[in-house]
Amino acid sequence: MKTIIEPFKIKSVEQIRFTTEEERKKIIEDAGFNPFLIHAEDVLIDLLTDSGTSAMSSDQWAGIMRGDESYAGAKSFYTFENAVRKITGDKFIIPTHQGRAAEKIIFSILGGPGKHFASNTFFDTTRANVEFSGSEAHDFLCEIGKHPEQRAPFKGDMDIEALDAFIKKYGKENIPLVVLTVTNNSGGGQPVSMKNIREVKEVCKKYGIPLFLDACRFAENAYFIKLREEGYSKKSVLEIVQEMFSYADGSTMSAKKDALVNIGGWLSLNDDELAMKCRNLLIVTEGFTTYGGLAGRDLEAIAQGLEEVVDEHYLQYRIRSTEYLGEKLINAGVPIIEPPGGHAIYIDAKRFLPHIKPEEYPGQSIVCELYVEGGIRAVEIGSVMFGKYDNNGKLIPSIMELVRLAIPRRVYTQSHVDYVAEVVIEVFKNRDKLKGYKIIYEAPMLRHFTAKFKPV
Ligand SMILES: *Cc1c(COP(=O)(O)O)cnc(C)c1O
Repeated sequence: MKTIIEPFKIKSVEQIRFTTEEERKKIIEDAGFNPFLIHAEDVLIDLLTDSGTSAMSSDQWAGIMRGDESYAGAKSFYTFENAVRKITGDKFIIPTHQGRAAEKIIFSILGGPGKHFASNTFFDTTRANVEFSGSEAHDFLCEIGKHPEQRAPFKGDMDIEALDAFIKKYGKENIPLVVLTVTNNSGGGQPVSMKNIREVKEVCKKYGIPLFLDACRFAENAYFIKLREEGYSKKSVLEIVQEMFSYADGSTMSAKKDALVNIGGWLSLNDDELAMKCRNLLIVTEGFTTYGGLAGRDLEAIAQGLEEVVDEHYLQYRIRSTEYLGEKLINAGVPIIEPPGGHAIYIDAKRFLPHIKPEEYPGQSIVCELYVEGGIRAVEIGSVMFGKYDNNGKLIPSIMELVRLAIPRRVYTQSHVDYVAEVVIEVFKNRDKLKGYKIIYEAPMLRHFTAKFKPV
């Protein structure tokens, strides 16, 4: 087969700034060894997140100019509503300024003390919104998903039996919602199979509990279904997407992911009374129902992005470029979650740095070294992000210690990716020299964003 090429030409470029290793050593120290606190200008290749970092197309920029900025009933809202409805099939489409705003609305209304929510894996903001409402968030990832070294086609699936047992334990009246995260971001960007979505829906239906999709990477998930699940290879991605959403009663979405824009989101649902409550809260916290914290131009860009993201040339390039980086690392012996996920490569820090215990945050150590070695910014997804303390102040580590290299959409070329592989492999060769870190400052919630560290 011939090389899979970037399915676009580059029309506008942004200069990147080079720094020396000496400069980077000082920069990371000044940032408390937390890459979230580095100025983006000091980063050569930014793989911190794929969120809001996409390059927009010329058609999306044209949409920006077309944006109708009327306060109520803007034309751009209806363009957006139609585009989202084409995908979700849902009755009520509520724009929000990003994914977590949609989460805040739905969990404020459905949550509260004594309530329990279940997911394959709650993403960090989603979990935070559940917990902020006073409720508890429970993850039921399938067994294979917990083994980074084992390959399976759908490692994002939910454990159906565990879900059923959970509902019996807490009582359906205390479980307002089940959420399937597609693809499973925190679980390695691994897809959820159509079979699993269908089975989760059946369990939910049996108990009368609604099912929502945390739909951030719905197109990537659909493409994996097309590639890997029997019976889907001849279906279009749009058809697969529509089937995925057909089992859900609603969705929360960060348009900063698979809508190929820099800001935006939505909450979609079918229940009339719930939609009314959500819209009321939207008006108090986000804005009127036809813009929800966004400008008309943003709504246009999202609508156009949703057309482009289900294009199969785009998805082939997208999934292949992530896999390409994964293959290079695997061939050099770097331990990663296998098979590679859709939007990111996840380095398994436990196997990468077996000499650093979870209490000394091996993932953070790799993240700092990638920056110093090559100006690459990645993020720890392990005990810094998910660690909790027991009553004695002892760390309860996360199940996995990962470092995520998230790939922004349509931003970097193959040679950028080659460079990233070279840097990771260099750090891997010198892994014995890496040291652990301790936290010297942390916030009570979502501590990874602002924590400061010191090498031990
Ligand atoms: C990014 C993300 C969110 C939150 O969306 P924001 O737009 O960042 O608020 C929720 N769930 C998943 C799976 C995500 O990847």
